[in-house]
Amino acid sequence: MPYFARRILDIGAGHNPFKGVTHVLDMDIKEGRERGGNRIVVPTTARLIQGEAAALPFRLASFDYVYASHVLEHLDEPDRACREIMRVATAGYIETPSPFLEQGLALNDETPPAQWYHKWFVFAPRQNLLVFEPKTREEVSRFCSCANGRFLQDFYATVDFPDAQHCFPRKAKTTIFYWNSSFEVEVRDRTVDCRKEGRPCRFSGMKAALLGSCNDIFRPHRLMRLRKRYPQCLAVFRRYGHRTLFV
Ligand SMILES: [Zn+2]
Repeated sequence: MPYFARRILDIGAGHNPFKGVTHVLDMDIKEGRERGGNRIVVPTTARLIQGEAAALPFRLASFDYVYASHVLEHLDEPDRACREIMRVATAGYIETPSPFLEQGLALNDETPPAQWYHKWFVFAPRQNLLVFEPKTREEVSRFCSCANGRFLQDFYATVDFPDAQHCFPRKAKTTIFYWNSSFEVEVRDRTVDCRKEGRPCRFSGMKAALLGSCNDIFRPHRLMRLRKRYPQCLAVFRRYGHRTLFV
């Protein structure tokens, strides 16, 4: 666990590094275009190093722990970065937006896809496996034929997602991945239909995450707002046989 580690790297931490890190790596120290213009914050305990995740300027097993939070979805070659992360550290934490959040926002995104900073849907269909699917206009509009895919397609159609996203807690909106010693990476060139190909789709678990957030007794006000503003989403829940506490 990070608490006992001595050398801790944070990749692409930007303005929000994890506590207790000893090294901070960023590829763009000055401009911060992909950080929304925020300046890098370097904790007093840490060194700032300029470099890229796909070619980390460190030796084998230099770190006890590595954080990579909201960085892999920006990269052209996330598999290279994953191999680099495993090379320089013995364990770590990876976080990205969940496919549920990424797709919901992309469906409403008017900017040309060439300008999208997030290039991938990232998900962990099982422990120790991280999957990347390309986030293109075509893939964004494509839904798996499984119940998860159909449910989400209908759900997105009933809400103004950029507004509704505030109704969902972080665990529905993020992919969280812990690894130790190594993990598998699968980079796909297109969306997988799990029913036809027998491989998990990016929607696996997304319905459960959304429903879980709809039973979150700690945030009832948010979900009441969802129900009030988007009453049509109730019909979608019912159509798929879901009862939730607040919606
Ligand atoms: Zn599926």
